[in-house]
Amino acid sequence: MGRKDWERFQRLRDSNPDYVGYRGLDTVVTVQAPSAATETVVCSVCNRKRNVASDSLPEDISTFVCLRCQEDSGGDAT
Ligand SMILES: [Zn+2]
Repeated sequence: MGRKDWERFQRLRDSNPDYVGYRGLDTVVTVQAPSAATETVVCSVCNRKRNVASDSLPEDISTFVCLRCQEDSGGDAT
């Protein structure tokens, strides 16, 4: 670690007591872990790619309809 890096590290550590260093705990480095798993699925109506939470996917992904298309088709049901 170069001297400049070391100074930077100390500044970071001073401003963040939880900071453990460049090679510290992995959990500290990967702060941006996604809260929910998402998949890129192509909407069967508009053929646009959508990022959808894996939980809300239909069993047959080829029948997936994105929220926008669901709203469009639901508006003129009556
Ligand atoms: Zn769509």
